[in-house]
Amino acid sequence: MADAVVVGAGPNGLVAANLLADAGWDVVVLEEQPRPGGAVRSDRGVHPDYTNDLFSSFYPLAAASPVLRAMELHDHGLAWSHAPAVLAHPLSDGRCAVLERDVAATAAGLEEFAAGDGDAWRELYGLWEQVGGDLLGCLFAPFPPVRSGLRLLARTRVAGALGLARTMLLPARRLGEECFAGEGGRLLLAGNALHADLSPESAIGGGFGWLMSMLAQSRGFPVPVGGAGALTAALVRRLESRGGRVRCGERVTEVVVRQGRALGVRTAGGTAVRARRAVLADVSAPTLFTRLVAAEHLPARLLRDLDRGFQWDFSTFKVDWALDGTVPWTAQRASGAGTVHLADSVDELTRFAAQIATRHVPDRPFLLLGQMTTADPSRSPAGTESAWAYTHVPQRIAHDAGGDGITGAWDRREQEAMADRMEAQVERYAPGFRHRIRSRRILSPVTLQSLDANLHGGAINGGTTALHQQFVFRPTPGTGRPETPVTGLYLASASAHPGGGVHGIPGANAARAALRGPVGRALGTTVRRILTPSGHPEETPRSCRAFRP
Ligand SMILES: Cc1cc2nc3c(=O)[nH]c(=O)nc-3n(C[C@H](O)[C@H](O)[C@H](O)COP(=O)(O)OP(=O)(O)OC[C@H]3O[C@@H](n4cnc5c(N)ncnc54)[C@H](O)[C@@H]3O)c2cc1C
Repeated sequence: MADAVVVGAGPNGLVAANLLADAGWDVVVLEEQPRPGGAVRSDRGVHPDYTNDLFSSFYPLAAASPVLRAMELHDHGLAWSHAPAVLAHPLSDGRCAVLERDVAATAAGLEEFAAGDGDAWRELYGLWEQVGGDLLGCLFAPFPPVRSGLRLLARTRVAGALGLARTMLLPARRLGEECFAGEGGRLLLAGNALHADLSPESAIGGGFGWLMSMLAQSRGFPVPVGGAGALTAALVRRLESRGGRVRCGERVTEVVVRQGRALGVRTAGGTAVRARRAVLADVSAPTLFTRLVAAEHLPARLLRDLDRGFQWDFSTFKVDWALDGTVPWTAQRASGAGTVHLADSVDELTRFAAQIATRHVPDRPFLLLGQMTTADPSRSPAGTESAWAYTHVPQRIAHDAGGDGITGAWDRREQEAMADRMEAQVERYAPGFRHRIRSRRILSPVTLQSLDANLHGGAINGGTTALHQQFVFRPTPGTGRPETPVTGLYLASASAHPGGGVHGIPGANAARAALRGPVGRALGTTVRRILTPSGHPEETPRSCRAFRP
């Protein structure tokens, strides 16, 4: 019998397993797919000469993560690579905002959009240098982040803390307008906010866009040499060197609970895998609480909150390409960037997000595009490009603003139509792009979910990043901690605080809670009490969640 069973070998599951193994626990990871990694995998499925990442590609959050840094993954084969420039946002008129590796170079480029915008960028970066470390400490700690919170307060004093809090809460459009006179700086913030499902008008979009921009400025957007899978391979190697095991092709169908305590899991093949001390679930919150744990073991309030209140993030549609040349950008300066954002203005980003909110498939999709050979020359032969782009579509589609009648069935016709629409968007900024396509692979929302069950309907972040599902509201109103109402069961995925992205923090928080043992159990009991004051599942009449106390 293992000490711990980890369900799911995504980055969070693997981080959790590594930390438990470091503490001397015997750990087994059960993974549904034939290969580990979750949304951190790469292959040669587009073209035999090209390595393409299937899902995630750029890892500033991993570079900033104290947990991943402490794992010294370079000793297990991981090496990072950087593109000459971090991120570019070209416009159809040939102008281009570029987030360079060097802050002075970024500032100089923004100055071309409007006088004074270079200084505004430096000022934003100065703020980051002052508070960025403590801010990340707050985000990456389990809730409440007492130590880093106090450090931040000591550094900024009350007035500074209030100003910072306001900045973090601002929508990206508002922060951009307060800081920049020109479109370049505004687009860098708003485009980065849309790495999560935060439109230019969403609260905390400014804070998130600023944080991502400053991570980009301070650490770049690194990629693993050889493909995203190299990060997973390093995590697996490290785990195995400490005696941990990953068993692929094992779908967990049940967390076995007796008298309020998790005893282990059962797999689709009918095998029972016992866990002496803990079960850690790197699965989405809805899967854990509505599919894997029987309702009788959970408070009714939690199930109701999930049913009516849990919000998935946008759905995602991705295309991978093997290009026989580099992307022929009109704005030359986009050529050196690893990540490229495509939308012609902040207004266009708003229009895109509004179309998704009103359940329309966008006619002019905002694209996040990766130039992977530019970032890591090992990805494809010299002079070619391994590239991808993804965009977002509604989880439930009512209309297609693009006129192709896309319904969300995602049959072959709909997939081809959407991929063509994305290529047309690239052509706006890089005429001739289509002629460079040697082969392409389409990953529709349905395909994404079939390759990783956590990517529900193409959601990439385990639930919305919006303020109403962050901190103590993640995944449902509660404590924002990994403990669950079942003793010895921990939520270890991106559905837990602090959410999506490859940083491993939800996995680390869950592992630490499990290692705390009795204290963790006491916290679990507290969680249970908070969720069910009577200690029993209670029933209340159906009502709009927003009005329920
Ligand atoms: C297209 C795309 C692009 C992205 N780009 C970036 C990026 O550039 N940078 C970044 O930082 N983040 C990015 N992300 C987000 C990031 O990849 C995720 O937030 C992160 O992978 C979440 O890690 P996780 O371990 O919580 O879940 P996952 O990575 O989804 O892993 C969960 C694992 O659990 C397994 N599993 C699920 N259910 C079961 C079950 N019942 N039994 C057994 N196994 C199960 C799954 O098969 C999967 O392997 C992207 C995501 C996508 C989809």
